[in-house]
Amino acid sequence: MIAGYDVIVVGGGIVGAACASEFVRARLKVALIEPKVIGGGATAAGMGHLAVMDDSEAQFALTRYSQVLWKELAPRLPADVEYFPCGAIWVAADDEEMAEVHRKLRFYRERNVPAELLDGRAVAQAEPNLRPGLAGGLLLPEDSVVYPPCAARFLVDDARQSGMELIAGRSVASFAEGAVRLDDGRDIPARFIILATGAAAGQLLPGLDIHPRKGHLLITDRHPGFLRHQLIELGYLKSAHASDADSVAFNAQPRLTGQVLIGSSRQYGSEDPVIDRHMLDAMLRRAIEYMGGLAGLSAIRCWTGFRAATTDKLPLIGMCPGYRTVFLATGHEGLGISTSLATGRLLADMILDRKSAIPREPYLPERSYACHA
Ligand SMILES: Cc1cc2nc3c(=O)[nH]c(=O)nc-3n(C[C@H](O)[C@H](O)[C@H](O)COP(=O)(O)OP(=O)(O)OC[C@H]3O[C@@H](n4cnc5c(N)ncnc54)[C@H](O)[C@@H]3O)c2cc1C
Repeated sequence: MIAGYDVIVVGGGIVGAACASEFVRARLKVALIEPKVIGGGATAAGMGHLAVMDDSEAQFALTRYSQVLWKELAPRLPADVEYFPCGAIWVAADDEEMAEVHRKLRFYRERNVPAELLDGRAVAQAEPNLRPGLAGGLLLPEDSVVYPPCAARFLVDDARQSGMELIAGRSVASFAEGAVRLDDGRDIPARFIILATGAAAGQLLPGLDIHPRKGHLLITDRHPGFLRHQLIELGYLKSAHASDADSVAFNAQPRLTGQVLIGSSRQYGSEDPVIDRHMLDAMLRRAIEYMGGLAGLSAIRCWTGFRAATTDKLPLIGMCPGYRTVFLATGHEGLGISTSLATGRLLADMILDRKSAIPREPYLPERSYACHA
């Protein structure tokens, strides 16, 4: 006989882990269900850049709020989470991209986010391995990085120490108001159910506006000091976020181990995790255009993962339409590591009827989907 819970969280990626952590903090009786390894889904595939973004006011609010929560949590993170407050530089190749740097600078400054304009010389000083002749960049000193699977594991272990139950090795086959049914046929009752199953969300909720968006990453062996900041080319927003076509963009991250993590690609229409050689080649060619020295480093591993993308590029956080006690926490696309903590906090606010620090409406699932109880 399994006792009832206040909350069942379905899925032990970074989003489910962050939700569970928030509910436990609110002294609720919580269980988390994960069939595989904690943080082993998209979370293990992700880059771990904790970014503040400016695609829209809603995206800014969620990323900035979460960044603040990560900063608060940082002193408690164990060493294997590799929290690294390295800052990020958006790299501008030419005058057109410098105009975008100026726009971003205004945007962040108007919202009290520290941001610094770098001219060509300053960007070369900040990152000597970038190719010469770049126009400049925008430094966001409060961006940081983590190693996502260990961050998810820390949140789960921490919640377990405060009484959360982990139901490991089982998946949820179906759910209804007030209970989930496991794949072994057991029903587990709960007052609230949180579906945090990432790109698999459509399996439990057919018709949900979630589309797997494949990405490739590659990590090198150790070269301490080769790279100092998270770097993103400014063509990134145009190529990666604004378009539905396959795309690659230069994105490089310094790991505390001295390794360089190189990304990234975006593809719809492929659900096969196999490495697509042409995408990997295009991604590396792009990276080498920006940092020729990368060609001399040894790659030790490359992999793929699937982002859970929504049509309007905002996550689905809130009550599932048609249900009163089932909530969604998915659709975080390429920002789920960044926005996991804010997602958990907003959901805890909702079920506890607390006021939130940022408006919740932009992320409510009702905007894009009607599911039926
Ligand atoms: C190449 C790449 C680079 C990225 N870079 C970044 C980055 O730099 N910064 C950033 O913020 N984000 C980044 N992301 C996005 C980020 O990785 C994801 O948004 C985030 O990991 C999503 O977490 P999640 O918990 O929602 O999903 P997942 O980590 O996929 O977790 C979902 C979990 O649900 C479980 N599950 C599925 N079905 C069931 C079921 N029926 N019952 C029980 N459990 C179930 C799965 O086993 C899985 O563990 C990147 C993603 C990719 C692919």
